Amino acid sequence: MNGSTATALRQLPSVDRLLQTPDVAALVAAHGRAVVTEAVRAALDEARASIRAGGEAPEYSALVQAVEAVARTRTAPTLIPVINATGVIIHTNLGRAPLSRAARQAILDVALGYSNLEYDLAQGQRGSRYAHAAALLAELTGAEAGLVVNNNAAAVTLILAALCADREVLISRGELVEIGGGFRIPDVLRQSGARLVEVGTTNRTYARDFEAAITPYTAAILTVHASNFRIVGFTHTPARDELAALAHERGLWLIDDIGSGALLDTTAYSLAPEPMPQASLQAGADLVAFSGDKLLGGPQAGLIVGRTELIELLRRFPLTRALRVDKLTLAALHATLLHYRRGEIDQIPVWAMVGASLDDLRARAETWEAALAGRGVAASVVSVESTVGGGSLPGETLPSVALALSVPSPDTLAARLRTGALPVVARIEAGRLLLDPRTVLPEQDDALLAALLAQV
Ligand SMILES: *Cc1c(COP(=O)(O)O)cnc(C)c1O
Repeated sequence: MNGSTATALRQLPSVDRLLQTPDVAALVAAHGRAVVTEAVRAALDEARASIRAGGEAPEYSALVQAVEAVARTRTAPTLIPVINATGVIIHTNLGRAPLSRAARQAILDVALGYSNLEYDLAQGQRGSRYAHAAALLAELTGAEAGLVVNNNAAAVTLILAALCADREVLISRGELVEIGGGFRIPDVLRQSGARLVEVGTTNRTYARDFEAAITPYTAAILTVHASNFRIVGFTHTPARDELAALAHERGLWLIDDIGSGALLDTTAYSLAPEPMPQASLQAGADLVAFSGDKLLGGPQAGLIVGRTELIELLRRFPLTRALRVDKLTLAALHATLLHYRRGEIDQIPVWAMVGASLDDLRARAETWEAALAGRGVAASVVSVESTVGGGSLPGETLPSVALALSVPSPDTLAARLRTGALPVVARIEAGRLLLDPRTVLPEQDDALLAALLAQV
C-alpha cells in the first residue's frame, strides 16, 4: 500500500461517525437503524475497495448518496404496480384482474379500521364472515346459496374433500387437466382423499361412459372446464343437463368446475362461449366453482354456488377454516358483484378491456404516437390481436391496435421499460416492440408516455 492510499483510507469516517451526521440520521429516521447501519457499512466497504484500486476518498455527500441508495433498495417493496401493455387482459403473472374504482374504495373502507366481518350488528352478537357477498353471489347466479373461499383451487379441493373423501369421483379423460401453477386435477382429487375414476377417452366421452362407471362407492361426477386448451375435430362431451339427470337418477352429485366464471355471455363480444355459472346451475349442477379474478373481474377468490344443504355442509367443514377468505377480498368482491347487479359493466376493468372499441384503441395509440413523434421517436400504429388470457378462451383473440416501435434492439428497450420506476411490460412481435392500449388503464396513459420518453 503506498502512502496516498493509506492517507485516503484514514480520511474515511467511521461507521459511528457517519451514523451521527444529520444527513444519515435522517435516513435512520426514514428507513430504520438496522438497514441504514448495514448500508453505511456497505458504502464504506465500497469506498475502501475503490481507494485500494487507486481511487480517491469519496466526498461526504457522495458517501451519503451511496448510503441512501443502498437503504432505499433494501426497504423498497418487492410487489409494485406495473403497466400491462401486453394486450393479455387476464395476465396471471401480472396479477390477473385489475379492480374497479368502487372495489378499490371498498377495500380502503374496511382496511383502515374495524368492520363487522364476523359480527351481527342487528343482534349484537357473533356473525359469519361467509354471510358477506354470498347472498349477492347467489342472486346473480340464480343459486340457492353461495360460499366464498380463498381461490378456485381451494374451492374445488374443499368440495371434493367435504363431499367425496374415500369415495369415487367420475371424470372424463378429456378433463384431467393441469390448470397452471402446478394445479392438476388428478393431484387435487388425490389430496382431497377422493378416488379418481377416469371415463371415456381424451376426445370423446358420452353420458353412457359415466353410467357404466357408477358403483356403490361413487359420490359424484366432476366436470372441469378445459380452460387453457381446446380439443378440436372428432370430439364429444355430454351436455351438462344430460349428466345432471344421470347423476340425480343415481343419487350422485354433479360438481362443475367452470374455471373462469363469466357472469356475462362472451359471445356478445364476438368471442367463443365461456361456461357461465347461471347456465350450469340451470342445467342441474349441484355445485359450481369458479374464480373471482378471471372473467368475473374481481379479487382473487374461489366462488362456490349451488344447493343450500351442500353449501351449509361446506361452511361447517373444518378445512374451510384453512381456506377462509380475507375481509379485503370480501369487500372488493361485493363491490364487483354490485356492478353486475346495477348493469355497470363498463366499470369492471376486465369487461371494459374486452369491450373496448377499435376506434378508441386506435385514438389512444395515435396519441402515444404523436407524443413520441414530438420527441423524434418513430413509431407506427399497427393492427394486432389481443387475448383474454388467464386460462380463459384459449385460441380466441380480439382484433386490436398497438403502437409499434422499430428500434435496433427491442429486447433492450423492453428490459429498460421493465426496470424503470413504474415498470411497463410490453410485447415483442416480429422484431418490433408493441404497446397494446387495450390493457393499459386509460388513467395510466400519461405515466406510460413518461416511462417511454425516459427510455427511448
Ligand atoms: C383457473 C382455474 C382453476 C384455479 O383457479 P384459481 O382461482 O387460480 O385457484 C381451477 N379450475 C379451472 C378449470 C380453472 O380454469
